[in-house]
Amino acid sequence: MRWQQTDKLDGLKTRGNASMNITNTQELKQALRAGPYAWPGGYPTFFLAADGEPLCHKCVRRGFKSVLWEMHKPKQGDMFRVIAHEINYEDAALHCAHCEEPIESAYGEEQ
Ligand SMILES: [Zn+2]
Repeated sequence: MRWQQTDKLDGLKTRGNASMNITNTQELKQALRAGPYAWPGGYPTFFLAADGEPLCHKCVRRGFKSVLWEMHKPKQGDMFRVIAHEINYEDAALHCAHCEEPIESAYGEEQ
């Protein structure tokens, strides 16, 4: 997979601007295959669910069937309906809504 906006990445620091929409199974698989770091640049990525909550790669991989199910049969209260794959530039307080593990950020904190 190629990140679509490579030429803009360095200039963007706002969460959400470098997102890639996920609207079907193929895009979801591509994002999972790409792994939790964007290429190029190695920026940490996460998934955004339809309810506005972030989900980590681990949870989306584990909940893959739920993600697919909710994607095809959307209803209110879905927690796993992934709508985008995004880069976390500087939100050091970002946590996965499911497992509550912190989601790594590129510039948010010193590791
Ligand atoms: Zn998680």
